[in-house]
Amino acid sequence: MRKSSLLKLMLAVGLMGGVWVAYPQFGTAPSKLTTQKIADDLYVIHNDFVPGNTTALVTNEGVVLVDDKFPQDTENILAEVKKFTSQPVKYVVNTHHHFDHSGGNANLQKMGVQVVSSAQAHGYTNDLKQPGAANIAFEDHMHIYLGGKNVELYYFGKSHTGGDIVAYFPAQRAIAMGDMFTFGDATPQLIDYAGGGSAKEWTATVSRALALDFDTVVPGHGVNTNKAELTKFRQSTIDLRNKVHQMVADGTAKKTPPAQVRSGVEAMLRKDFHFADLHIGASLDGLMTEMR
Ligand SMILES: [Zn+2]
Repeated sequence: MRKSSLLKLMLAVGLMGGVWVAYPQFGTAPSKLTTQKIADDLYVIHNDFVPGNTTALVTNEGVVLVDDKFPQDTENILAEVKKFTSQPVKYVVNTHHHFDHSGGNANLQKMGVQVVSSAQAHGYTNDLKQPGAANIAFEDHMHIYLGGKNVELYYFGKSHTGGDIVAYFPAQRAIAMGDMFTFGDATPQLIDYAGGGSAKEWTATVSRALALDFDTVVPGHGVNTNKAELTKFRQSTIDLRNKVHQMVADGTAKKTPPAQVRSGVEAMLRKDFHFADLHIGASLDGLMTEMR
């Protein structure tokens, strides 16, 4: 999918203020999916850019999914799962409430699947009147034990939204990060201030994830990667914060007109951090307030 279509799509699904109902106007074609194997029992159902990656853990008592893309992707996700197991999906974990990660919830709930999210994501889902709010929500930490296997879920603090969690697979040495970590210039970092996101807290949140023991990292968008890339991403978040802070502080010291400072920060974010209209709309003003 081209970047401009990605932006229209993501704008339409409510990142800009809960207008997910407008989404069908932008087309409802399911995404083309491919599946990558991470371990004998762990797979990532991937597509370019949107919607987010789906991770699947296979056990002999059923499958645990992390994120379920848009509603129109449910059928294709289940078809991909069937390629590597005949087990039914039992749980789906939402890394956060955005509809490109939780849009399949309602479809899956009708099939008896239990949806798990942070308590914060549960709240945002209800506030935005999105269908498919979680059946099970937690504050800080929980485990899903299924078929003798263990998935660890952690809420480490604010980042992309106020309710992002990570799903950690200790036996597979893998972690699914959701949009706390997006990988590649085509899917830049987005701070959804309206959804409780924070650039200031983001790095401490990622540091807590980095303290876990893993090799493979599944980003919210982008291809699977490793801990070194997640560490680089954390540093890039610090650089972003510092640059915004410096530009706002310089503007204040030199009494530069606020609109001029704002357009300077916007240009820097577009050039150095690949922000597109979506990211500017969701993040610029919040960043300037938070980093001043
Ligand atoms: Zn998101």
